[in-house]
Amino acid sequence: MRTTALIAGILAACLLSCSAPDVQPSQSKYAALIVDGQSNHRIWPTTSQYLKTYLEETGMFTVDIATTPPAGEPLETYRPAFGDYDLVVSNYNGEPWGEGAMADFEAFVGEGGAFVSVHAANNAFPEWTAYNEMIGIGGWGDRTERHGPYVRLREGEFVRDHTPGIGGSHGIRHEFQIDIRDSEHPITRGLPLNWMHANDELYDRLRGPAKNLHVLATAFSTVESEGTGEHEPILMTIRYGEGRIFHTTLGHALVSQRCNGFITTFKRGAEWAVTGEVTQTVPSEFPTADAVSVRPEPQ
Ligand code: ZN
Repeated sequence: MRTTALIAGILAACLLSCSAPDVQPSQSKYAALIVDGQSNHRIWPTTSQYLKTYLEETGMFTVDIATTPPAGEPLETYRPAFGDYDLVVSNYNGEPWGEGAMADFEAFVGEGGAFVSVHAANNAFPEWTAYNEMIGIGGWGDRTERHGPYVRLREGEFVRDHTPGIGGSHGIRHEFQIDIRDSEHPITRGLPLNWMHANDELYDRLRGPAKNLHVLATAFSTVESEGTGEHEPILMTIRYGEGRIFHTTLGHALVSQRCNGFITTFKRGAEWAVTGEVTQTVPSEFPTADAVSVRPEPQ
């Protein structure tokens, strides 16, 4: 399992210690798998391509995509070889996978595989206990207090709030400010403490087990935008077994996923999930506290 990561680690060690490394860059790439195939977001084939492009342009990843059958068709045949990969990225929000794929995925992350959950991936699998531990908190799918607490910012600390109520909603789509809450973490180190995100859904009232969950960034959900009046978790890390998970709630629309803040945090989150470190620098086009920054549509 995860031979590529091992080789990459050895190569990285060699690059540090060998005076004349004879290494082709392509040999040190990590293997990433995007899972998709069903979503309430009809743009999922396009966003999967966006995510694939973003991973590839880091120069660190080769990327495959494993697409489920359409909704309504049996999913038992869907059984990606997770163990052949270093990283799984979910762009999936659909019917439950077969038991084989679920068991394989639990083993993958539990044994140290990296996982990145993007936007509506945290709507998926409300009744899959291990998955909800991996994403920490999620929304919709009839999530309630039965699924776990809200994560709330109170007097500078993140607390678990077990108040009964729905899990998952959002107000009117708008541009909103992201507030970094941990500027020392590898994913967020060097980013502006506050930056404007492009038009998106600001997910609120997510709830779940929230175990081993660390909030990196929040956004204030204003009552004017039909939100909660709370600082909602936006970027998070979670530990599940030996695995590292990066969870971004951002990415509803194409423009949301072309935000240079989304792109940068996604790429850095993916690297961190695989290695525990981030070597990517913050790009000059990163948004500021005053202005969004959106990449042009691909031609
Ligand atoms: Zn959405």
